[in-house]
Amino acid sequence: MARLTFLNVSIDNLTTIELLERLKQGGAVYTPNVSHLIRLQWDKDFYDIYQEAEFSICDSQILWLASRLIGTPICEKISGSDLFPAFYQHYRNDHNVTIFLLGAAEGVGEQAKQQINAQVQREMVVDTYSPPYGFETDPEECEQIIQRINHSKATTLAVGLGAPKQEKWIHSNRDRLVHVKVFLAIGATIDFEAGHVQRAPKWMSNLGLEWVHRILMEPGRLGKRYFNDGLPFLWLMLSELLGLYQDPFVENQASSASALPKANGKIHSKV
Ligand code: UDP
Repeated sequence: MARLTFLNVSIDNLTTIELLERLKQGGAVYTPNVSHLIRLQWDKDFYDIYQEAEFSICDSQILWLASRLIGTPICEKISGSDLFPAFYQHYRNDHNVTIFLLGAAEGVGEQAKQQINAQVQREMVVDTYSPPYGFETDPEECEQIIQRINHSKATTLAVGLGAPKQEKWIHSNRDRLVHVKVFLAIGATIDFEAGHVQRAPKWMSNLGLEWVHRILMEPGRLGKRYFNDGLPFLWLMLSELLGLYQDPFVENQASSASALPKANGKIHSKV
C-alpha cells in the first residue's frame, strides 16, 4: 500500500473504495487535518498513537492541495465525515457489520442512529453513548463504556469526541473491545449524521472552504482553532518546501528511514 509522509505524519494514498475494502481486515482509521498536523509537532503521545494507526487518510482539502504543492500528491481527500456514510452504505447488506456510536451531546447519537438505520433499513447502529464531560479521566466511567460496547457486540466503533481525545481513547481501550474490528475517529460526524449541525455544501468542501462554513456555525470554538493553526501551518509548509522541516520527534533525521521521503518529497511504500 502506498503511504506518503507529509511533515511528520504518514498518509495512506488510497481511494475511498480501496480503503473500504481494506477495512474488511479491520483496523483503526485516523483522519489528519491541519489541526492534527499542528498538534503532531508537540504532542508526543498523539504522535506515537499516529504511528500505530493501521490507516491514516487525508481529511482536508487544504492538506490535499498542499501535498500537490510540495510534490507528494495525495490521490483523494477522504474526510471522516465522508468516510463514515460511505462505510455504512458499503456494508449495509453485510449483517456481520454493526456499529456503536460513541460521542456527541446527549440525544444526538440516538438521532444519528435512527437516521442511519432508516437509510440502511436494518439495525446496523446497535447502540450509542454520549459520555459526560471529563469521562476520559474517570476509569469507572471508561470501564462502563467498555462493558456497554462489548455488550452491544458492535463490530465497528465510530468515535466522535474531537481530536486528540478520540484517538487517545481508541488507543487506550481498543484491546479490551472484544468484538470491534474497525475503529473510526470521526470528529463531528455524529452531529452531521443526526442533522444536529449542518455540513458545508459540497462546492465549499471541494474548494477547501469547509473551515469557513464550520467557523460560521461555531465561531467561538472553531474560529480560535483555525486562527491559531492557520499561520503555523503556513510556516510548516514553507519550511517543508524549502527542505528545512525537521520532525521534532526524530533525533537523527539523516539516519531515519522515514525522514528520507520527507526530505526529497518522494512517496515510499509501507509494505
Ligand atoms: N465531544 C464529545 N465529548 C467530549 C468532547 C467532544 O462528545 O468530551 C464531541 C462534540 O459533541 C462534537 C465532537 O466531539 O460532536 C467535536 O468534534 P470536533 O468539531 O472537535 O471535531 P472535528 O470534526 O473538527 O475533528
